[in-house]
Amino acid sequence: MGAMEWSGGQAERPGRGRRVLVVGGGIAGLGAAQRLRAHRAFSQLRVLEATARAGGRIRSERGFGGVLELGAHWIHGPSRGNPVFELAAEHRLLREKDLSEENQRMETGGHVGLPSVTYASSGVSVSRELVAETASLFHSLIDQAREFVRGAAAPAPSVGEYVRGALRALAAGWTDREDARRLRLALMHNFLNVECCVSGTHSMDLVALAPFGEYTVLPGLDCTFPGGYQGLTNHIMASLPEDMIIFNKPVKTIHWNGSFQEAASPGETFPVLVECEDGGCFPVHHVIVTVPLGFLKEHVDTFFEPPLPTEKADVIRKLGFGTNNKIFLEFEEPFWEPGCQHIQVVWEDMSPLEDVASQLQDVWFKKLIGFWVLPSSESVHVLCGFIAGLESEFMETLTDEEVLLSLTQVLRRVTGNARLPAPRSVLRSRWHSAPYTRGSYSYVAVGSTGEDIDRLARPLPEDGAEAQLQILFAGEATHRTFYSTTHGALLSGWREADRLIALQDPQAQQPGPQL
Ligand SMILES: Cc1cc2nc3c(=O)[nH]c(=O)nc-3n(C[C@H](O)[C@H](O)[C@H](O)COP(=O)(O)OP(=O)(O)OC[C@H]3O[C@@H](n4cnc5c(N)ncnc54)[C@H](O)[C@@H]3O)c2cc1C
Repeated sequence: MGAMEWSGGQAERPGRGRRVLVVGGGIAGLGAAQRLRAHRAFSQLRVLEATARAGGRIRSERGFGGVLELGAHWIHGPSRGNPVFELAAEHRLLREKDLSEENQRMETGGHVGLPSVTYASSGVSVSRELVAETASLFHSLIDQAREFVRGAAAPAPSVGEYVRGALRALAAGWTDREDARRLRLALMHNFLNVECCVSGTHSMDLVALAPFGEYTVLPGLDCTFPGGYQGLTNHIMASLPEDMIIFNKPVKTIHWNGSFQEAASPGETFPVLVECEDGGCFPVHHVIVTVPLGFLKEHVDTFFEPPLPTEKADVIRKLGFGTNNKIFLEFEEPFWEPGCQHIQVVWEDMSPLEDVASQLQDVWFKKLIGFWVLPSSESVHVLCGFIAGLESEFMETLTDEEVLLSLTQVLRRVTGNARLPAPRSVLRSRWHSAPYTRGSYSYVAVGSTGEDIDRLARPLPEDGAEAQLQILFAGEATHRTFYSTTHGALLSGWREADRLIALQDPQAQQPGPQL
């Protein structure tokens, strides 16, 4: 094992307290560190971050004349009670209209709003009435899928199978002409793909039906950060001593249930030793693990020593974690109408009721649901496409030129304009290839339940004997009702910090949720 590393510095305060290490500098890890920092018992606190930056899956980059969100995009349910909304409002990171009571009261049911225009693969635009009617039917099926959480026996294992079953029954009664019926089904196929982006999964057939309604949608019309989502994590960072977070410090193995010592602290023993890839070691009392579920899945057999209890390792394998990516296209001139906010792209040869076996390289782009139009200025015109699943992972293996060419062909085809100028450039996320993320966010997969999320969140050792709370688990995948979101991640970091504070000081007045 390598050198023991625990130096003093600003992050250290006088007095011996519990030594805590947070693994991961995303919003969960930063939130936990900030909360612990406010408590005197945790004078020795460090955050180890594998990459060169904080924020994790909150990642805003300057590009194409504006801000590009490679990760989190919206505050879902921006209303009082959502801690991300409250912090963002406090730090004046939001637009006035997004703070209004009216926006906060909006109930969207978590459904994506109607597109401004829908293009079909034969080069025609689809009537708004048909899109609205089909969207309303689709949303009612998704709402029904959420109802099984109330106890009624789920008639299918997955959300996808449930929706397709209901659709098959409905479609049997449609009296449309064949082409109109095809178009309806193609729209449904697109809406299912939108749902794949929302759930971060390859197929809604992988998303468990019975617990689907446990995910909780807060009121409020989803909003964005005009200056970038990362402004939020930057604010949290700014409140922490500069040397508290150590970058480019990937953790390799967490040794627990041990009795570790270091020369600098004679007579003291630590139950946990955090070993980094560069050989550095940190002996600590407690470690809060906030690494993404995708990373845990890949390293479940080696990240903990002794290995995790079987039940814990099983839930890591069972819970779902898939890929959703963004593709930004920059245009010289907009081809869309002024005021257009969202362009939907529908493939008329696709139907939720038919399986078509094809090679990924021939069809990957059909999984792209369409594009959001980013706020533009006179010279900057940018579309942001969303694509989930295996097709999204395949897209990560292509070059920028290949992606740009394919999407130019898609846009020319669906607009019916063979001379539509190609985008000037492309920029995209690659969350599946990112070694310390390995995907986008979590979902409750077929074969797992909401209870598995709670099992994942339970600290170790589980028997609660002697050296308690050695390893604590936070991060979006550990929040039972807000998984896959930034607010779920932040709340999970606060939850684990509070757990440690309560162990140390049962009478502690917990700091409020304000920063
Ligand atoms: C494309 C995309 C779009 C999204 N859109 C939204 C949205 O619109 N709204 C919303 O609310 N949420 C959205 N999310 C989800 C949201 O971004 C996440 O839920 C949230 O940011 C997760 O925070 P976290 O702290 O749990 O994890 P992360 O932000 O992933 O932080 C974990 C950190 O751990 C580090 N790490 C990993 N392994 C190690 C290791 N071995 N040693 C040290 N450090 C390590 C990682 O580098 C990372 O910085 C989106 C995510 C993606 C990818």
